[in-house]
Amino acid sequence: MDVTPFWVAGKAATGDERVSVAHPYDGREVGVVSVPTEAQVEEALAAAYAVRREAAALPLHVRAEALAHVSRRLEERKEELARLITGENGKPLLWARAEVGRAVSVFRFAAEEARRWSGQVQRLDTDPGGAGRMAYTARVPYGPVLAITPFNFPLNLTAHKVAPAIAVGAPVVVKPAPATPLSALVLGELLAETGLPEGMFSVLPVPNERASALVQDERLPIVSFTGSGPVGWSIKDSAPRKHVVLELGGNAAAVVCPDADLDWAAQRIALFANYQAGQSCIAVQRVYAVGDAYDALLPKVVAAVEGLVTGDPWREETQVGPLISEDAAKRVESWVAASGGEVLTGGVRDGAAYSPTVLTGVAADSQVSCEEVFGPVLFVERVADVDEAFAKVNDSRYGLQAGVFTRDLATAFQAQRDLDVGGVIIGDVPSYRADQMPYGGVKDSGTGREGVASTMADFTYEKVMVLTGL
Ligand code: NAD
Repeated sequence: MDVTPFWVAGKAATGDERVSVAHPYDGREVGVVSVPTEAQVEEALAAAYAVRREAAALPLHVRAEALAHVSRRLEERKEELARLITGENGKPLLWARAEVGRAVSVFRFAAEEARRWSGQVQRLDTDPGGAGRMAYTARVPYGPVLAITPFNFPLNLTAHKVAPAIAVGAPVVVKPAPATPLSALVLGELLAETGLPEGMFSVLPVPNERASALVQDERLPIVSFTGSGPVGWSIKDSAPRKHVVLELGGNAAAVVCPDADLDWAAQRIALFANYQAGQSCIAVQRVYAVGDAYDALLPKVVAAVEGLVTGDPWREETQVGPLISEDAAKRVESWVAASGGEVLTGGVRDGAAYSPTVLTGVAADSQVSCEEVFGPVLFVERVADVDEAFAKVNDSRYGLQAGVFTRDLATAFQAQRDLDVGGVIIGDVPSYRADQMPYGGVKDSGTGREGVASTMADFTYEKVMVLTGL
């Protein structure tokens, strides 16, 4: 099999070591990646640092055109990329195509935001000391960005870091997840077509044990990390003087009120607890149904889950494929067994696949209740009223997003006010994400926000210039 090159300072390169990429569904090899040597990593970091001022000074139209080019090329190569993602990640084609579509939009949004990127002029003579003075405040990049990405959205979560970095004029060094490097490497290829300055981007599939050297390197003042909590928080602890953005895990909850459309709620809960085999940081995991809604909702959820098409991710109709590995599926299996809950449907493992599972009566202190399952498992629990539901949602160390199925405006505003999460989705599951809106968590779910404009703000700081004698 051909070796996929990595990208060092805008140029394709290969190292001596090779790593095979396996398809989670049947273990067959879907790619071979070359691992950068220490010298190649050094070349990438030195180039990113050296080009930082040139990058920050790049005209906005040049950045915008480069980003628009990548967006167009992703669209043109959509099917090929979707198949690459299904190959490396195991997610069904349905979701892989959706992911590429989102990456197309992320680069387009970044191109649009780049054209709007501007500063602020402020008169200072509102105070006597400011007479004859004016401030021009620009947002400037901290410097080169280290982008560390997880396996579950290998293209789009890379896009969420790379596109805003280019939009603000920051070089970016990508470290993709070891299980899923292929789509990020194609992104390198598309970036290489743009004519951006050498050094502006590198894609380095280094193994985890070499990633902490990147985190520690002072030439990369920003670390933008999406992945698991323990790794993310240890990165922040290990680099206290860096600007660290963390997009971490969750155990997202949906609240279903009696006034909701229960058929819609059941369909959405079933699909978004299980899409990508539950391997999404905002997959539905906990469902709190208020009063009588519980009795009506539960059989509908079970029926909707049983109606999902599972199996081979290459089949057009498949909605739920395998997990990333057999070990991951075994972990989910053991957590369900230890949950103390009644399995209403699912609960069967076959290799890396785990059948979509609905539980009730799980123990409040079980992993399925308290931790991030990251598998196709949800539980439904009856609560007396909305206040109890919201208290249960908040009784978690995570706080990414929550969904509230209600038609009542007062409940919607109560949810936004009282739920300790980064985003509240009214009338739908917590799993809804639009790539242009602010997205991120509180508590153990992270710090900082993604969403193209929010990331652009996060990668930059305000720098003021005061004009005197006006
Ligand atoms: P992970 O933490 O195992 O790996 C994430 C990335 O960190 C990978 O690139 C990995 O190689 C790298 N890494 C591992 N050890 C490192 C170290 N010591 N130093 C530097 N980098 C290191 O996560 P994963 O299993 O790939 O992804 C799943 C997790 O990601 C879940 O917890 C999920 O909730 C979270 N996630 C969060 C969001 C979000 O936006 N909040 C989105 C997707 C996934």
